[in-house]
Amino acid sequence: MDRVTARSPGEPEFHQATHEVIESIWPVMDRHPEFRDANILDRIVEPERVIMFRVPWVDDRGNVQVNRGFRIEMNSAIGPYKGGLRFHPSVNLGVLKFLAFEQVFKNALTTLPMGGAKGGSDFDPKGRSDGEVMRFCQSFMSELYRHLGDRTDIPAGDIGVGAREIGFLFGQYKKLANEFSGILTGKGLEWGGSLIRPESTGYGIIYFAEEMLKTRDDSILGKTCLVSGSGNVAQYAVENILRLGGKAVTLSDSSGFIYDGDGISHEKLAWVKELKDVRRGRIAEYADQFSAEYYPDQRPWAVEGAECAFPSATQNELSGEDAKQLLANGVYVIAEGANMPSDPEAVQQFVDNKILFGPGKAANAGGVATSGLEMAQNAGFTNWTRDEVDQRLLMIMVNIHRSCQEAAEHYGTPGNYVNGANIAGFIKVADAMLDQGVV
Ligand code: NDP
Repeated sequence: MDRVTARSPGEPEFHQATHEVIESIWPVMDRHPEFRDANILDRIVEPERVIMFRVPWVDDRGNVQVNRGFRIEMNSAIGPYKGGLRFHPSVNLGVLKFLAFEQVFKNALTTLPMGGAKGGSDFDPKGRSDGEVMRFCQSFMSELYRHLGDRTDIPAGDIGVGAREIGFLFGQYKKLANEFSGILTGKGLEWGGSLIRPESTGYGIIYFAEEMLKTRDDSILGKTCLVSGSGNVAQYAVENILRLGGKAVTLSDSSGFIYDGDGISHEKLAWVKELKDVRRGRIAEYADQFSAEYYPDQRPWAVEGAECAFPSATQNELSGEDAKQLLANGVYVIAEGANMPSDPEAVQQFVDNKILFGPGKAANAGGVATSGLEMAQNAGFTNWTRDEVDQRLLMIMVNIHRSCQEAAEHYGTPGNYVNGANIAGFIKVADAMLDQGVV
């Protein structure tokens, strides 16, 4: 850890993510001297390649704007680089390195052949016209396209990159490369996308929570759930909570959260999708529309009367204090929709209290897994039905849950999904790195 901190100063999120993994896998290093001999740890924390580039574009008023673009190609030991693109003003090298690092282990857990990567820009799509977003995406892809390929690197969406952005990015790639190939996932259904890909991350976290609950002969049915975020992951988490008979009572965005004690119904959720994906409005409007409560500048973790919580907005959105509050209020099931939403003190409390805690790299892996299924359909020039993809997603989440459980048990910490996910993901990648020599 000292070496990581010294070599990558000023990247606190990256230090946080590496620290958690290294702590979990210590018992593995003790049992596997061959990983130490090959210096796997120093190699796995170093990206295989980092691409940073200028993204100039012209706004609607004719002003020239400049953003910074990134792609972190972290590890390709088990497959081509795979991981989302994030457009958000908070994006910097350290944030993307943490996300790329997490992605390596998450992708390994899916059992599909995908290496880990992440990319994006500090561009803020909020308040920008479609024309501005298009011009930005075209400029971004004008550099990135030379690094992509359906056997090399296949990005997807993340915060601020949804169907609209993927469309503009794909269009520019196709024009520059003169090739129609599956170099992005999350594509539109008419041009190579997969059914259930938009739903997959949100559905997957609820499937994962259901698997954790089964270990205690329990289920989501009848449970009250706190959800943060109101974007892609949060929306479909709520949808799957409804399908499995639970009740979601909160949603949030970066301005505040809403509490709806009657529960967010299918009809209200359809309204939220329109609000966020089409009108690009604020979640505060929900409170006016449905006579719900709105709490500006707050997160939903102090709401009472819930058993489950699904943080699905962004990193470090749930602090040690929030964790205390959740536990005091009787929440005992947490599955992370976002990447690293719980800070280290929060994670420690969940683990110490032995609640059912599914870390993001396991619980939200359904998104990238279904991206893998989109790649398989593209490669086979075929389309699977909605049910078929949903069934495969469910089986993948069941298997990820089982691998985490088995790894945690095997290494002496039964029920600890944090250790389980880190260990199971790490061993697969480390074995592949050993086989392939020092490259
Ligand atoms: P979206 O852009 O669709 O939605 C993001 C949501 O989080 C919005 O409600 C946004 O509010 C809120 N948010 C973003 N940044 C902040 C912040 N700094 N503080 C408070 N709220 C914030 O993104 P996704 O739903 O796709 O992603 C959400 C999380 O899930 C991310 O951590 C992402 O990495 C993770 N994830 C996503 C996957 C996917 O397939 N999309 C796969 C696996 C993980 P506002 O509108 O105000 O910005």
